Amino acid sequence: MNEPHLHCPLGVHRQQLSAWRDHALAEHEMRRIAEHVPTCAACQQTLAQFGEIASLLHHQPLTDLTSSVWNGVHQRMRPKERITMSRPRPALWGGISAAALIVLIAVILTAINHPSLGNTGNTGNTGTAPSPTVTAATDCAALLPGAAVASAGAQFPDVAFPPATVGLSPTRSGGDVGQFTITTHALCTAHATVAAITAHFGDLTASGWLHSNTFPTDGSFQSPCGTDQCWAKDVRYIKLAGPLTDHGSGLITYTVLLATAPPAPDCSASGNTFSQGYYYLLPDPHYTQTPLYADIPLPPLTRIVPNDAAGGIRGYDLCSAGSVASITAFMQAQLTALGWSNTGNNVWMNKGYSLILLVPATTQWTIYWRDPSFLP
Ligand SMILES: [Zn+2]
Repeated sequence: MNEPHLHCPLGVHRQQLSAWRDHALAEHEMRRIAEHVPTCAACQQTLAQFGEIASLLHHQPLTDLTSSVWNGVHQRMRPKERITMSRPRPALWGGISAAALIVLIAVILTAINHPSLGNTGNTGNTGTAPSPTVTAATDCAALLPGAAVASAGAQFPDVAFPPATVGLSPTRSGGDVGQFTITTHALCTAHATVAAITAHFGDLTASGWLHSNTFPTDGSFQSPCGTDQCWAKDVRYIKLAGPLTDHGSGLITYTVLLATAPPAPDCSASGNTFSQGYYYLLPDPHYTQTPLYADIPLPPLTRIVPNDAAGGIRGYDLCSAGSVASITAFMQAQLTALGWSNTGNNVWMNKGYSLILLVPATTQWTIYWRDPSFLP
């Protein structure tokens, strides 16, 4: 179970303690904390955690010859792989201002007065996808039987579907603890073209939406958007999913996915100064020996702070949405998918390299490893 979270009466932060442990503070700070620690259970608890992590990492098996050879091979493969890998970035907060200035199309968006907000009582259909083989249809009712006037819903008041759009009642997925909720809208627009539908959603960037390379398709992992078109704003995502099918007579069918975030974590009580923005991948440490520590996926709404220590120990303290169980399950699934295996005692191994994953609390969990250049 979780250890009780103790509070330091002097407000000494984890980063300060980490630096103190590494003898990396100014002399008067070194002395102040040295005098304080024997009297403070909170600081002692934090230092004990640091000690546990350091001890685990220093007792890891050394990289053996086999994995060195394999790593050499992997390194040669790496530049090609990297082309398709998304770069870590603060999820949304960093770059909104530039796109928000583009107001060229705002007049058109404003003019689209969608009549769908009063839509109720659209029940009883099955959410079946439209058949792309229908060619004789003359209206959307024939293509999407049971469809009614469609809207993006209360969580997306700033998103209008194109005029003359109907849809089946949306299906839901995700939405478990710590997950995005995804609603999938099967839509049909009349008097339209594929280009017009694409342009309509492209105009989202005129109202503060940013193009996104990812979408939380399974509710948790920010998977690549691929050839689809994705946008993000706040912690909401939109995906215009292909194929957009032209049925003739100006009838276009397509699918739109909308994602809303789980409740944001309260990271304020952890004693850490976390990043303002959310990260969905650990930043790439750019090791020349191995790419294994790059691009490790993180659970929804994760804030991070690096906490490196002496002896080549590298890592992050993290704070995420969800529960200890949901974060643990996410990380176990992602690490396993990347080839890491759990060897017990919170130690994961991959090709001779190790990392420590500790999830004692949602607002204070850790991933640590040793810089490969410190391995003998
Ligand atoms: Zn203290």
